Amino acid sequence: MTKHLTENCIFCKIIRGEIPSHKVAETEKSYCFLDINPLSEGHCLVIPKYHAEYFHLVPDEYLADILPLARKVALASGLADGQYNLLQNNGPMAHQQVFHVHFHIIPKPNPEQGLKVGWPMQKVEQNDLKATLDRIKEKL
Ligand code: 5GP
Ligand code: ZN
Repeated sequence: MTKHLTENCIFCKIIRGEIPSHKVAETEKSYCFLDINPLSEGHCLVIPKYHAEYFHLVPDEYLADILPLARKVALASGLADGQYNLLQNNGPMAHQQVFHVHFHIIPKPNPEQGLKVGWPMQKVEQNDLKATLDRIKEKL
């Protein structure tokens, strides 16, 4: 799998063991470890063993492997009752800091701990929703 990793990426180095990490679990195609600056206790990152900056650049076989591992870790964390966020950021404007695709598993045991989200919801007309739908479906 190392043939899909790059030299200077911090997460590629973690996969190769060149930088230490608290490994939670791994498969042939994915690696899960504790976030070094957790938003709450048990905050994990799940990454493909394939260097890609963005979600849409990860091959299907790696994506197919990563979510079952994320679920396994979420369940093992005792959060099966739904107290966690599964989060994935793409690009600096979307709060991405490390440019190797990663999914966060962030425990949210109570309102005080875990991810704090400001969710800027907008009001839209039905016509605008329809135009958006058409724009996306045209390219699918
Ligand atoms: P992003 O903002 O890109 O979605 O999140 C990057 C995450 O990677 C952050 O939560 C940050 O704490 C974590 N992180 C950055 N560098 C390291 C590292 O060297 N080791 C570990 N375990 N986590 C890291
Ligand atoms: Zn990488």
